[in-house]
Amino acid sequence: MHIRDDWFTVERIDEDTFAISEYGHWENVHSYLLIGGRCAALIDTGIGISDISDVVKRITRLPIKVLTTHVHWDHIGSHGRFDDIYVHELEEEWLTDGIPGLPLEQIRRDVGRDISIPVPPSFDPDRYEPFRGKPTALVRDGDTLDLGGRALTFLHTPGHSPGHLCIYEEKRGYLFTADLIYKGTLYAFYPTTDPSRFVRSVEKVNGLPFVTRLLPGHLDLGLDRAFMADVGRACRQLAAAGLDRHGTGVHEFGSFQIYF
Ligand SMILES: [Zn+2]
Ligand SMILES: [Zn+2]
Repeated sequence: MHIRDDWFTVERIDEDTFAISEYGHWENVHSYLLIGGRCAALIDTGIGISDISDVVKRITRLPIKVLTTHVHWDHIGSHGRFDDIYVHELEEEWLTDGIPGLPLEQIRRDVGRDISIPVPPSFDPDRYEPFRGKPTALVRDGDTLDLGGRALTFLHTPGHSPGHLCIYEEKRGYLFTADLIYKGTLYAFYPTTDPSRFVRSVEKVNGLPFVTRLLPGHLDLGLDRAFMADVGRACRQLAAAGLDRHGTGVHEFGSFQIYF
């Protein structure tokens, strides 16, 4: 299968797992499509510059469950195109009412800047509205979902946001890390973040028994367990030095940074 799209880049991770990426935007956001025997899971829906459901429909006709890693605008962009939406219970209100104190102007500035490829004519950053709507399912730590021969576990990994989820497919050793771990600047400096929880969440995923591959929400796609261990060491270092709190700034670790 070869999918061509002007905005999205589709990469096949394996037979029935796809990364759907937005390399034309400075954030390099990744969403993931996991095909099961009964239904498919779409982990996040991208920025919303282009409609991700068009690409998804070209890959599968199965019913889609949208699994929200966290309710930041760059991960819920096309939520409005789907009916079945999962979110952690602590971010239900963000999904229905938006994030308190985050100005729409700032979101519009960030969505519209540093775009390197042509956008669809329908996209206007000055009119961009982050998705708001009701989820159909609320999840908690340890909940599982069976797509039909593919079992997923939701791991509550707060810190970057209060209801942040990593999604773990133990059988294949896939860990979808969203904004907890990627190869860039990891953020936990907003008022709604929590550096010490972030550190604990990184520790939690490092304790998983079997991880073959990390599938992050941004930037480099091919991350392995060793990278997760590097981030773990960095977090332990910061905690030991008492730096796992707001306002301590950008901490540099070579291939990644941690911004508290
Ligand atoms: Zn985020
Ligand atoms: Zn993000």
